[in-house]
Amino acid sequence: MRCIKCGEKAIMELPRHNSAFCKPDYLEYFETQVARVIRRHRMFDRNDRILVGVSGGKDSLSLWHVLARMGYKAAGLHIHLGIGEYSSLSYEKALCFSRQRGLELFTVDLAKEHGMNVTELSRTLRRAPCSGCGLSKRYILNREAYERGFDTVATGHNLDDETAVLLGNILHWQIRHLARQSPVLPSTGGRLVKRVKPLFMLTERETAAYALLHGIDYIVEECPNALKAKSLLYKDALARIEAESPGAKQRFLTHFLQDAQPRLQVGADDHVLRDCVACGQPTTAELCAFCRMWRQASERAEKRKRYRETASAREMKTAGEQS
Ligand code: SF4
Ligand SMILES: [Zn+2]
Ligand SMILES: [Zn+2]
Repeated sequence: MRCIKCGEKAIMELPRHNSAFCKPDYLEYFETQVARVIRRHRMFDRNDRILVGVSGGKDSLSLWHVLARMGYKAAGLHIHLGIGEYSSLSYEKALCFSRQRGLELFTVDLAKEHGMNVTELSRTLRRAPCSGCGLSKRYILNREAYERGFDTVATGHNLDDETAVLLGNILHWQIRHLARQSPVLPSTGGRLVKRVKPLFMLTERETAAYALLHGIDYIVEECPNALKAKSLLYKDALARIEAESPGAKQRFLTHFLQDAQPRLQVGADDHVLRDCVACGQPTTAELCAFCRMWRQASERAEKRKRYRETASAREMKTAGEQS
């Protein structure tokens, strides 16, 4: 297998483009793809301050790396989710990456801010960890970007993530979600910061190769909760289709964005955004979903604490009466 550009030995084959590249030409291919997406979708320019959501995985660190290499003003935000060893290691990778390259990293610790990590939140609310985690990450990224004066939030979602979400949204006919699934979500004013996904045309495998070739030390382990997430099933199904028909994932997403999504957008998002009465962040209701979730979690935790105190007081009283 030879590089299609220089004829040297190729290290990366890309069946969906019917091509193969040597190391320098692969790195150039990757960066050209990112630059093209940023330009075509008018994501940001050199004057913008970009806040990258950094988990410590290959996608977010590759994104941060490529933006910094291209000369964009990109800082990172890591949210400590408190998912056991996975979160500690993720933080270590993000911190190490930022220190080695002299890039600015902000951190938010969910448990320190709200008294509960993702695991405790999920137990308290009796709902899947990913729902509270996803909501918290979206909210905190926007809030931190707004409060710290950033123009854009960038996340490392890749082609595999985006097509899995698309398939899930179609299977459940989530019209509102489909209407909003886009590589660019503009700020519609107020405290809503523009959100972009510069890697959305690159696959997980391509991002992993970019990270490895640049010697980026990222967390290889997946979040333990990802195993239970439906998105893995959708990714598997799409990978099987892709193996039989290279380029299927890219066509699925690009045709959706070009042909279907503009029609879905008409009249789909007729909600007016206003400020949450508790935190001031943008919402369509009086209280935003994040505040509602954490209010419910602390009420339940308080109720449980009171129940436990009553039960132990009763036990002590019974023990006292028996002695
Ligand atoms: S898999 Fe779920 S719980 Fe784990 S980081 Fe992702 S959204 Fe959060
Ligand atoms: Zn080459
Ligand atoms: Zn709120």
